Amino acid sequence: MEDCLFCKIVKGIIPADKVYEDENFLAFKDINPKAPVHLLIIPKKHYATINDIPDTEMEIIAEIHRVIKKLAQDFAVAESGYRILANVNREGGQVVYHVHYHLIGGRLLRG
Ligand code: AMP
Repeated sequence: MEDCLFCKIVKGIIPADKVYEDENFLAFKDINPKAPVHLLIIPKKHYATINDIPDTEMEIIAEIHRVIKKLAQDFAVAESGYRILANVNREGGQVVYHVHYHLIGGRLLRG
């Protein structure tokens, strides 16, 4: 999508601190981290929200969790613990309309 920030990161038009990439997924550090580890994991294919992923393509959610699991190991939060969250639409707090999961850890998270 032309005007999508995360599509621009996928295409390399906007720089990001990339920590993982494969054919279908990209992960990079959040520009405004809420914890020592704060990564964003995205499918390269544009879906505005989780609501927009067709049922026939839902396997990307399982796949994205495979990437999350690996990154939790790589960033040494798998055992100490971490939080995964995806904000959906306005009341869910979504700001960037390209599906992404936050992986947050490295400190005690409350609430
Ligand atoms: P959300 O509220 O779930 O849509 O979160 C969007 C996230 O993207 C926020 O945590 C932002 O800090 C993060 N963000 C925005 N622009 C960038 C960028 N250029 N590089 C990395 N992270 C970004």
